[in-house]
Amino acid sequence: MKCENFSSLIRLLRITAWVQRFIRKLKKDTISGQLTAKEMEEAKFMWIVHIQRKHFAKEIHDITKNKSSNIIRQLGLTIDNNGFIRCVGRTEHADVFENAKRPILLPKKEAFTKLLIYSYHRNLLHVGVAQTLSQIRQKYWIPQGRSTVRHVLRTYGNCIRYKGGPYKMPLIPPLPQKKVTASSPYTYTAIDYFKAASNVVQQEWKKVLYDSDIQNYVSNKGINWKFIVELAPWMGGFYERLVGLAKRSLRKTMGKVCLSVEQLRTLLTEVEAVVNSRPLAYIGEDIDSNIVLTPSCFLTLNKHTGIPERIDNDEDPEYKPQLSSTDNLFEIWKKRSKTFKQILESASW
Ligand SMILES: [Zn+2]
Repeated sequence: MKCENFSSLIRLLRITAWVQRFIRKLKKDTISGQLTAKEMEEAKFMWIVHIQRKHFAKEIHDITKNKSSNIIRQLGLTIDNNGFIRCVGRTEHADVFENAKRPILLPKKEAFTKLLIYSYHRNLLHVGVAQTLSQIRQKYWIPQGRSTVRHVLRTYGNCIRYKGGPYKMPLIPPLPQKKVTASSPYTYTAIDYFKAASNVVQQEWKKVLYDSDIQNYVSNKGINWKFIVELAPWMGGFYERLVGLAKRSLRKTMGKVCLSVEQLRTLLTEVEAVVNSRPLAYIGEDIDSNIVLTPSCFLTLNKHTGIPERIDNDEDPEYKPQLSSTDNLFEIWKKRSKTFKQILESASW
């Protein structure tokens, strides 16, 4: 089986998992039904171990013989109990998921790595290079990751066709003075609403704009309303950039599909999570820079998009399952009947 023949990671993993199940059945395993998450994970693990052995045979040999080399020292390579080569940086004690502390090493020139990068990009609703890279680094380490991710996003899938516009954009003029002068937060704030919703919002909006109380409050507080030109996103600067990010994700994910209100609401919430998980600073190329600062770090305790990482060891010695009310009643009855018996016995004496 060759990764090159597959266009998506999920398809590759599903077929691998079915093949693995077939082999198990030959060994008289009685498993049936649809594929489980565990089988999919095992298929992925099998591929990772396979490509690591293919590309890093020398490193594996060196690590087991306790020899050192440039790459081993640079990335702090070790082999874990499952046979994965992992990178260990200085973030060993950081408060991040286990996988982010010890990312799995993946070769850059490998079809599997490319499928994995593209699947991340797709799951994150077609975000850019930096965000895709920062998410991948929560689990995997790809040497020269930035250029590899950039190459994949340029060549895979059909995102490229959304890049071009109907006409060439004019040259962007220099930034206005207020945008390049340091000012305290909330000196400039902005309100934006979708033009599509304008019919509904317009009436309410007019009331707000022409309401004498609001007008008086605004002038008393020294607040200036300023309207930017319609369809001129470059004038809004920062917040229009965020609107652009949301629109890009929607356009690339939905295409021409018409969604129901509930579906659109779900998608918008996902887009919100993705926009809030964008890296705020440049992500370095060294192994110690895989802790990424995102707006979610300030907004929520779960700063990750999608399903949280599973903790493998779910045997918790502290955990005492609560008795059901039936069991509880039965326990009380047993205790009471014992006491009752004792009373009866003492009475008979
Ligand atoms: Zn894309």
